[in-house]
Amino acid sequence: MFRSLHMKLVLIMVLIMISVMAVVGTFLVNSVTTYNIDNFLSQMTMVFTPEFISKLEDIEADAQQPEEELSALLSAYSGALGIDKYRSFYILDAGNGSYLDGSDDQLAQTLMLTPNILTAMQGKVGEDIERLSDYFDVAIPVNVDGDSGYIVGVMDTKQELTDMNWNLVTILIRAMLFGVMVAVLLSFFLAKTITTPIERLTDQATSIAEGDFGEPAEVYARDEIGILTQTFNEMAGILQDNLHTIEDERSKLNTLFTHMADGVVAFDKQGHIMHHNPEAAKMLGINFSEHTTYSEVFPDLVVQESDMADDGKYIEVDYVNRGRILKIFFAPLRGTGTVSGGIMAVLHDITQQKRLDDARKEFVANVSHELRTPLTNIKGYTETLIDAYDDIDSETRSSFLGVIYNEADRMTRLVKDLLTLTKLDYERMEASDAPVDLRDIAQRVAASMEIEARKQGVVIHCDLPADMPQVSGERDRLQQVIMNIVSNAVKYNQRGGSVTVSSDWKDSMVRLSVTDTGLGIPKEDLPRIFERFYRVDKARSREKGGTGLGLAIAREIIEFHGGTITVDSQEGKGTTVTVALPARQAEASHA
Ligand code: ADP
Repeated sequence: MFRSLHMKLVLIMVLIMISVMAVVGTFLVNSVTTYNIDNFLSQMTMVFTPEFISKLEDIEADAQQPEEELSALLSAYSGALGIDKYRSFYILDAGNGSYLDGSDDQLAQTLMLTPNILTAMQGKVGEDIERLSDYFDVAIPVNVDGDSGYIVGVMDTKQELTDMNWNLVTILIRAMLFGVMVAVLLSFFLAKTITTPIERLTDQATSIAEGDFGEPAEVYARDEIGILTQTFNEMAGILQDNLHTIEDERSKLNTLFTHMADGVVAFDKQGHIMHHNPEAAKMLGINFSEHTTYSEVFPDLVVQESDMADDGKYIEVDYVNRGRILKIFFAPLRGTGTVSGGIMAVLHDITQQKRLDDARKEFVANVSHELRTPLTNIKGYTETLIDAYDDIDSETRSSFLGVIYNEADRMTRLVKDLLTLTKLDYERMEASDAPVDLRDIAQRVAASMEIEARKQGVVIHCDLPADMPQVSGERDRLQQVIMNIVSNAVKYNQRGGSVTVSSDWKDSMVRLSVTDTGLGIPKEDLPRIFERFYRVDKARSREKGGTGLGLAIAREIIEFHGGTITVDSQEGKGTTVTVALPARQAEASHA
């Protein structure tokens, strides 16, 4: 109940009130007692003057009935002595202290020999007053000498003082009760003025703790609480700004985290997942849940934390998962405050890079091999000619020179093809929008291949309709493609075979097919024949002067022109290579 500041303040006020009243009461009772004692003593001093005492002594010495006369004299002074029902005078025998006479006969039974009476019995005036005793008294010796003489005294029962003190205490208690009521009421209102701003401030702080900044707390006065409220408002403002900044940063990081090309996964010290991004799920092929653990994500990858104990240290691991090659960087997460730390893995998919790298290595190896073969031949024949020129007959010499010439020619073609590929790879061709007449090209190619075909015992047919639509692009490049395809159809044909160049068009695509009746291509080789340097029959290709680059170049050029090139073949029966290119718009509608 007294936990609230409000009640504490009320309690403090009540305690102060009671304490003040208790102190005031004590002082008052004390003062009244002192006043009473002083008053009693001054009354006694005024009456029991030396003259009065000598008068008493005279009576004791001369009177017939000294007790009655002494009593009569004291009675005459009873007003000055303040004799009433609580205060009495008495006359005692100095010898034994027995009661002789007095204003109140009851005293004969109740009077005790007080210290003052004992003092008087020794001949001295007894006027010591004990504050705490339950009476006041004075005792005066009258001619006390051994057993003779009297003691005259006044005894006050203090009843009047006690009554007065009780009245005083009663008044004070009433005043205190009333004061406590007023204090409680006042303190309620006063406490409200203090606690209301504090309660508002507490509400505001609670709202802020729940993330609701709302309106700033109202400043009621320029006192300490007012300054506290103002400082609190300023602090809340700074906090809100900082939270906004952090939120902005978090949102930027989150966007980066979600859309970055690398995968990121973080685990706590116990191996439970803390963060992951969509790319990581994609690369690892895992549906992450909040219960995913490290051992589920990387079952066969144990990373020792001691390996990366120092700041900035990370471990790099190549990891093969579902046919993809991932480079994973493991870095320790430093724990701060309540975060216990853990490990973060950044995943980088290097499959493509690795493939390109392998392809580059293979390409370099192929190029070296392709160049070395003709060079070895040229060198071998040249050496033989130099060493044994005179021993070789002229027919053999010219056959040797023919080989050297052919090998040099093959190297020239190889270098030319390589240059063409390099150009296609690095110096992207400018897209040309010039009209190209495929029919015309095909007929020219067929004509230029005529002699070679006849040599091979192959016939070339051109079955191309006159209204064949034109295409757009670079004439020379497209001619190179058709040349490669027709020359393959002748090269890989057999005596008595034929090559047919035909065409058809639909859906705004123009198709040019070159069909031969040659050797055909085995099914398993079909997917690879567009690869650089890939040959089905290496010996035959070399023998026919092939470089293994013709179809690779053809595909690059056709795809650049927005078309496709496909091969359909049956081993032993023949092959059809089809090039499909987008028709020129005007021609397409005409088709
Ligand atoms: P090449 O210079 O060896 O002819 P290409 O890239 O033009 O290189 O062709 C790749 C391989 O595909 C050839 O080596 C050959 O084995 C095969 N090939 C291409 N065209 C035909 C075809 N019309 N008939 C049979 N095989 C073919």
